[in-house]
Amino acid sequence: SEPVDVARIRSDFPILDRTVRQDRALVYVDSGATSQKPRQVLDAERDFYERHNAAVHRGAHQLAEEATDAYEDARSTIAGFVGARSEELVFTKNTTEAINLVAYALSNAATAGEAYADLAVGPGDEILVTEMEHHANLVPWQQLCERTGARLRWLSVTADGRLDLSELEDLLTARTKVVALTHQSNVLGTINPVSEVAARAHEVGALVVVDGAQSVPHFPVDVTQLGADFVAFSGHKMLGPNGIGVLWGRSELLSAMPPFLTGGSMIGVVYMDHSTWAEPPQRFEAGVPMAPQAVGLAAACDYLTAVGMDAVAAHEHALTAYAVKQIGSLDGVRLLGPETAENRGATLSFTVDDIHPHDVGQVMDDRGVAARVGHHCAWPLHRKLGVVASTRASFYLYNTEQDVDAVVEGIRAAQDFFARTSK
Ligand code: PMP
Repeated sequence: SEPVDVARIRSDFPILDRTVRQDRALVYVDSGATSQKPRQVLDAERDFYERHNAAVHRGAHQLAEEATDAYEDARSTIAGFVGARSEELVFTKNTTEAINLVAYALSNAATAGEAYADLAVGPGDEILVTEMEHHANLVPWQQLCERTGARLRWLSVTADGRLDLSELEDLLTARTKVVALTHQSNVLGTINPVSEVAARAHEVGALVVVDGAQSVPHFPVDVTQLGADFVAFSGHKMLGPNGIGVLWGRSELLSAMPPFLTGGSMIGVVYMDHSTWAEPPQRFEAGVPMAPQAVGLAAACDYLTAVGMDAVAAHEHALTAYAVKQIGSLDGVRLLGPETAENRGATLSFTVDDIHPHDVGQVMDDRGVAARVGHHCAWPLHRKLGVVASTRASFYLYNTEQDVDAVVEGIRAAQDFFARTSK
């Protein structure tokens, strides 16, 4: 595909025109937390509210019909974006809820009757995660273990920020029920060999749950080629609205899973003392769903498809190579994660000697550079790396080498400021 035309793309994002602090041009390098939204997405959501707004899958009136069609068309567009079929795509609030859905379904399966017994996780079973997980793909598994008596195990992260796959041999056993791992680390930028891990997990009969929150927005992901069983991602990190996420699951697994949340819209038949469930994906979408957000996310997928996900990935790869070189070579700066752009996304976390990340972040903010500081919801990973917190710059299709330079200048400014004040 054509290379990314950043100037044209930036003109689609109203917020990128604004200034912050003392008339500083905004340098937005926090897309790992949430992306900005192009006009096309904002327009699609507004158009739904202005012309078709109704509760989907309910009313007998024309608006309800239009809203339902828009919602289901959106499902089909988003499914197509990740190479899936519509019926395999469940809408959730975000990645966090999608992962909780799977974790709760697997513990609910133990008491949901014969039909669901195959998927039940119980005492003696094991759940395998990794040390680089976002809390969203760690805490729900800790909680599943608490509910079921299963045991949590984890793969280590090496000094250069990769998974230590040599441990798989010992960690994967007939007891392993689930392997849950991130596709791309939101701290290190590391892109994990998911297909390889999935193939080995399947040899022992484990289910593979992939946290795609940082991969689906940034490079082409075809869920059928990936070899996983579930993939979760968030609309707001891929140019889409807040409040919508996706759980993709293999059809036969979704059909074999009991619900997570229960209530309206997800039932087959309801009696006074019990109920039966609808087929997926409705079984997992209790209550009035987020149709306007689904329509917005479909517009985001269309936008990314028009740019070309290969082009997005190539643009980010070039930015990563530049950023790794520029930030990684600064004196007194420790880059966390891989030191080359190979199998590494455009998320760079770093520490600056003798300066707290919050201070680095504040100096950057004064200059208009919006980065993130803290443990980025990956506290165990920071502990493993021996740092309490870090500063993170994360780039997307609308970022340029000038944005990388602004980060570098921000780091230098922090170093200058604190060198002066400590004298
Ligand atoms: N996993 C990863 C790797 C993430 O970066 C994030 C977002 N910070 C999440 C999960 C959670 O996403 P959300 O907050 O949209 O549920």
